[in-house]
This record gives sequence, C-alpha cells and structure tokens, in this order.
Amino acid sequence: MQTIDKFNFAGKKAFVRVDFNVPLNENAEITDDNRIRAALPTLKKILADGGSVIIASHMGRPKKNPDTKYSLKAILAHVSELLGVDVKFAPDCVGDEAAKMASELKAGEALLLENLRFYAEEEGKPRGEFANDEEKAAAKKVVKESQKAFTAKLASYADCYVNDAFGTAHRAHASTALIAKYFNEDSRMFGYLMEKEVIAVQKVMTDTARPFTAIMGGSKVSSKIEIIENLLTKVDNLIIAGGMTYTFTKAMGGKIGNSICENDKLEMALDLLEKAKKNNVKIVLAVDAKIADSFSNDAKTAFVPVDEIPDNWQGLDIGPKTEKIFGDVIKASKTILWNGPTGVFEFDNFTHGSLSVGEAIVEATKNGAFSLVGGGDSVACVNKFGLADGVSYVSTGGGALLEAIEGRVLPGIEAIRGF
Ligand code: AMP
Repeated sequence: MQTIDKFNFAGKKAFVRVDFNVPLNENAEITDDNRIRAALPTLKKILADGGSVIIASHMGRPKKNPDTKYSLKAILAHVSELLGVDVKFAPDCVGDEAAKMASELKAGEALLLENLRFYAEEEGKPRGEFANDEEKAAAKKVVKESQKAFTAKLASYADCYVNDAFGTAHRAHASTALIAKYFNEDSRMFGYLMEKEVIAVQKVMTDTARPFTAIMGGSKVSSKIEIIENLLTKVDNLIIAGGMTYTFTKAMGGKIGNSICENDKLEMALDLLEKAKKNNVKIVLAVDAKIADSFSNDAKTAFVPVDEIPDNWQGLDIGPKTEKIFGDVIKASKTILWNGPTGVFEFDNFTHGSLSVGEAIVEATKNGAFSLVGGGDSVACVNKFGLADGVSYVSTGGGALLEAIEGRVLPGIEAIRGF
C-alpha cells in the first residue's frame, strides 16, 4: 500500500480531502482550529516535496448552492497563516474556474476549494421535500447519476489522492471514498492524521496485546449496544460505567432510585451478561455509586452500594470502591479503549470517577499499554483533566471511531486500501 512518507510529491498535484468543518461564531470567526492544525503535517509534507495541493472539505450542512453561511472562504486567511503560504480560493469546487485554477497551480502552491457539500452530489443524497418514497427514490437516482460526473471532475484536478479526513471516513461520499477509484494503488494514500487513526484502531481491534480492557461509559446502553456486542467478541474485560450501569443493576434486581435507566432494555442487559459469560469476557460493573438528591452539581451527595440507592436519589458517578476495582483492571491491561465518562462529568462534583479512570489509563500507558480514547465525551474528559498527553492516542473522529469499534468497514479506509 502507498504511504504518504514514501510518496514523492515533487511536480505532482495532490487532491487532499481534509476535515475543515471547524466551528464558527456568529461573526464567522473560527472558535476551535484543531481540525485545521491536524491536517497541517500532511499539507506541509506535500508542499515541502515540491508538490501542490488542492484542499477539499465540507463545512456544516448547507442546503443549497451557494449557502454563504457555510462558505470555506471564512477560513481561508487562517489556513494560509497556519500553512505559511498564500492559499488561493476557488469560489466553487467544480466548474471551469476551479478546473482552471487547479490546472495552473505551481509547485509549492495551495488551492482551497469551496464547500463540497454545496452540491448534493458530494453526499449522494437528494435535497428538498418529497411527496412520497417513490419520488424520493427517483430523486436519489438522479443525484447518484450526476455524482459520477461530480466525482470525476474532482479527480481530474490531480495526479494523486490523499485522504486525511478520518471524521468522515464512515461516509461513502464522492470526495471521501468514490474519488479513490480514479487513482491507482500507487497514487492514493492516507494522510498522516488518517494513518495514525487507522493504526490506532488496528492496534486495538486487530493486533491486540492482551489483556484488552474496554471501558464503556456514557448515558445509555441503547446507543452503545452494537459496540458492546462487537467488543464482547474481542475484549478480555468490559468495564461498564456511566448511566448505563443502572439499567444493568436494575436488570439484576438492584434498587436504583431515580437513576437513569432504560426500562425497555433490561432484557437486553441480561442477554449481554449472558453473552459475555459464553465468550469468557469478564464484565466489570460498579459496586458503589456517588448519589445525589437531584440532578445538579450542588445536590446533597452520599456514597452507597450501587444496588441500594434510596428512592428519590440518583447515581451520578461511581464510588471509591468501584474506582479501585476499575483502576486495578485497567492497570493490569495491555490494550485499553475508553469511550464515555463514568458519571456526569460536566458537574465538577461528579468528575472524580472519570478522572480516576483517566489516571489509571495514563499509568497503564506509562507501563507499556496501548490506550485509545475516543468518541465524544471521553475526549472532552481527558482534555478537561489535562491527561491527553498521557494516553497513546486520542481519536479525532467521533462517529467514524464508533463505527470502527462496532466492527464496520469504513468506506473511506476501504477505498484507499482497495479491498
Ligand atoms: P454518551 O454521549 O452516551 O457517551 O453519554 C455521555 C453523557 O452521559 C454525559 O453527558 C454524561 O453526563 C452522561 N452520564 C454519565 N453518567 C451518567 C449518570 N449516572 N446519569 C446521567 N447521565 C450520565
């Protein structure tokens, strides 16, 4: 497989799909530029080799073309500043002007295309309201047809294709997957960011050092069911934390007071426990909880056994006994995956459990374990606690990472690998 490090971009034009979908405030100013910074090593390598880059991204969810609120022009100056070159801007991602600007690019130059999602063809989804399913299906067919020409046009700008947008790797869109077919194996590759994500997922899901422990937190079992089912075929230990604890505790006959619980998922929780037993997976559940008399940071609190929560109280974090149990399992692990906090970490009085899990992961990592943190709130947790540097990898791709750990094939990855 081609890699960005091996490839010499001298004299070549590279079409680079990045994820510059950065948040903007009401004055169209960037409030967090991490996604732009994350793609810089790839863009800089291409330019340093003597290549030129055609940078393509989506931003937001535009509904028409153009939808100026979502114009990438808003980020042009900042991209230029970070990249250290005067980036040109194509006011459309396809069309004669974009093609001309791309063809005139010289070595060391960069061109940013306008938002790919101004065109319905990028996602291959029809826009607007439809009277019925037939009408919608017909409109979809039309978009899918014109998607081919759209993809071919984008591909025609460049000699090689680099995908550095892990955040959209789970989407089979024109610029994230379909375009790869226009480049042979030697001229399509992952960018540095994408490569790091792919390797991290591989280290956890495929080339796993054992014991492998996954910590699944967050609020609901229902949103994590597919991940848990897939993990039950992979892990040695599955730590269940956060709000979903109480669905399991209630299913096993415990008293959970007012704690968050999915009453329609009690059977499913018992099924998962049964599956774990069959697969020889050790399920590690909380034994105590930090409870509160209301859903508030200033609530009255107490520590009680997790299955003896009084009426009108609710579990908002794990207790100290559980912290010790979770910590011991984590510290004895060689591969660790963390998704979801152990409690309502947004309230300062209920962060301690998540902090203790984060600290145990950092210690295990120091002792040689590989640790991957990803999927929404656990990333916010490690950042809040300043622990990001102590874990092996913090994933940038929320939805994409979750689909990867559900065991799904990600179209953006498959398209580069070509199998
Ligand atoms: P998720 O998006 O599924 O990863 O869930 C993250 C959310 O779960 C965070 O906003 C937490 O506040 C919430 N959460 C974690 N533990 C609890 C709990 N015991 N009760 C209610 N919400 C919780």
